[in-house]
Amino acid sequence: MPISQTRFDLQPDEMPTHWYNILSDLPFELPPDLPPQSHGAAATTVRPQVPLELIRQSIARRAEIAIPEEIQAIYRQWRPTPLHRALHLEAALQTPAQIYFKYEGNNSSGSHKLNTAMAQAYYYKRAGVKRLTTGTGAGQWGSALAMACHAFGLACKVYMVGISYRQKPYRKVVMQMYGATVVPSPSPETRAGAQFLIQDPDGRGNLALAITEALEEALADDDSRFCIGSGESYSILHQTIIGLEARKQLAQAGVYPDLVIGSLGAGSNFGGIAFAFLRDRLRGESQVRCLSVEPSACPKLTRGAYRYDHTDSSGVTPLQKMYTLGQSFATPDIHAGGLRYHASSKLISALYHQRLIEAVAYQQPEVFKSGVLFAQAEGIVPAPESAHAVHGAVVEALKAREAGTRPVILFCLSGHGYFDMAAYEAYLAGDLRDVVIDDEQIAASLALLPDVE
Ligand SMILES: *Cc1c(COP(=O)(O)O)cnc(C)c1O
Repeated sequence: MPISQTRFDLQPDEMPTHWYNILSDLPFELPPDLPPQSHGAAATTVRPQVPLELIRQSIARRAEIAIPEEIQAIYRQWRPTPLHRALHLEAALQTPAQIYFKYEGNNSSGSHKLNTAMAQAYYYKRAGVKRLTTGTGAGQWGSALAMACHAFGLACKVYMVGISYRQKPYRKVVMQMYGATVVPSPSPETRAGAQFLIQDPDGRGNLALAITEALEEALADDDSRFCIGSGESYSILHQTIIGLEARKQLAQAGVYPDLVIGSLGAGSNFGGIAFAFLRDRLRGESQVRCLSVEPSACPKLTRGAYRYDHTDSSGVTPLQKMYTLGQSFATPDIHAGGLRYHASSKLISALYHQRLIEAVAYQQPEVFKSGVLFAQAEGIVPAPESAHAVHGAVVEALKAREAGTRPVILFCLSGHGYFDMAAYEAYLAGDLRDVVIDDEQIAASLALLPDVE
């Protein structure tokens, strides 16, 4: 029997030297950001949070944006990342589909978020900033930023969503190992946090609040800036290296994907794996389908509205047009903390609105079932967020078995789940349930959105 190759690696000098800017190929204009509604004065103090170079990257029109040498050098610590063929998963599913996955968990932060963390820390450092503040949900972004700040000599302060802080204590230790200060959000250290603690005495918190606290602290200190892990166009740009590498690796394997799948938080992971292929489709060179997978408990693309909303809960950041559940939507506590964000980035949202990408939502128990199947078949425990993409691939592979088709499926295994044992423990104990979100609950939080078009 011939031995099938299951791993496709690139040499260090084959790592892409440019990110791919999808704005250059869009057949439509993105809706403009709008100034925040109420806090007119505060708005002007928020803009300079982001270095000019990152703003330029968000509006540039050229297709290729060079990755600075310093960033390439640090990327080479863990990139190019491997592409695997999931032969054992295919066998377990008895599917004629070919399943490939790109693995982004091979670094201490354990996820793809390091790709933009390193780039952002580099640009903030060059802009003269001394210290970065941020909010983190499940902790992957906080870990990535802590590593990046350490690499570029910046101080780092992380507000971590309270419930994750307690569910995943070792995430905190990783951040501290890289020199970051970590506090649970809501915290009494900020006005927003102290106010929130009154209605949330257990301190469960949410990502929008953690972001608000981090922003409040940065606004009070000249040497500090607030930064964000996903959702902004520049963070998606930095992640495109994932798909660009995967494209070369699939070519080594002699295939091109019919379907590209990524889990969806705010969108950088999905954009990261999908845009290098969506480019071919926008240029009329392929029919590739790009499918995002979100949790049924936070169904922004599948059940949200395409409206202007804030990206945090402070009300001082510009309004962006996004698929959103409303910034006040109370996302149930689910284990995929990185997918609990109330909206999807304006870029991903616009692509969905134009029907250039697809979206599905799945429940936690089915997602974890596929996560465990994947761990058993392929020997890597997926992060709960990544298990959504695994489940998306499993569903599509089973459809192919029914239909007797042989699609090539690529998904991004965005991170590992070794800090998520509490989540897997709950699944194995049978404690996870389907979550039902009523239409009224979504309508009620959408009703609170600013009335602008
Ligand atoms: C944050 C995260 C996601 C979702 O990220 P977005 O880029 O915001 O869509 C997916 N997988 C893992 C492992 C994550 O940490």
